[in-house]
Amino acid sequence: MTTLTFRGTGDSMGVPRVYCDCEVCGEARTGGVNRRLRSSLQIEDEQAGTVWIDCGPDWGAQMQAAGLRQIKTMLVTHAHFDHIGGLVEWADACRWTGERGTAYVPEEVIPEILARFPWLSRHIDFLPFESALRLGSWSVTSWRVHHGKNGYAYAFRFAHLATGFCWAYCSDAIGLTDEQQQPLYGLDLLILGTSFYKEPFAYETRSVYDVVEAIELTAKWGASRTLLTHMSHDIDLRRDYALPARMSFAYAGLEVRL
Ligand SMILES: [Zn+2]
Ligand SMILES: [Zn+2]
Repeated sequence: MTTLTFRGTGDSMGVPRVYCDCEVCGEARTGGVNRRLRSSLQIEDEQAGTVWIDCGPDWGAQMQAAGLRQIKTMLVTHAHFDHIGGLVEWADACRWTGERGTAYVPEEVIPEILARFPWLSRHIDFLPFESALRLGSWSVTSWRVHHGKNGYAYAFRFAHLATGFCWAYCSDAIGLTDEQQQPLYGLDLLILGTSFYKEPFAYETRSVYDVVEAIELTAKWGASRTLLTHMSHDIDLRRDYALPARMSFAYAGLEVRL
């Protein structure tokens, strides 16, 4: 049995955005439904234990919300601050508990992280995540995806060795090539990042898909269910966007039992 719990569903700045007085940020500021910490996912697996995807700067608050004191295993998608800022705090936790952490990270991302935070390797083992990784009954693979003007990220695909159930996490991506889209076909569950409903900015300035694109792509990919994450203040969870039946917005605390 595996349970996924969303611990953050926000984009790089989270919601509310510190500088912003828009309606959605205002609602979020008063503790409303649009309050979104930086994106991360908690995986609870009866064999693999607790594994998180990404460790942004809200990690400490997210651990509080999860009722956890320490975790041993982390998967990291890419070296943007909203996905790695909490590694500093996690390394401190590892130091004080005397338990080394293990982070599985795509090989080219490891030097990017350690260039910024060189001391992390004193308390965390960074292991290259290139070939398939076994986590409990899941075989996990990683692949590189375009991240628009922000460069690249990785996405992860989890295939259950006994049941064949497949799900994927792809929070920071846009303009995927046909090859990069291949692992996203025929999923039982897709977790996809969409910062805006319909992003108004020029394509070359963008870095994450929007909801309108997600509707089109997931129809093509044939996901049985899609949950959207990595959302900016453009998405107002009080609104009815008339999403397709098998697509919904994720929110902090949402649990999915696999
Ligand atoms: Zn991001
Ligand atoms: Zn990013």
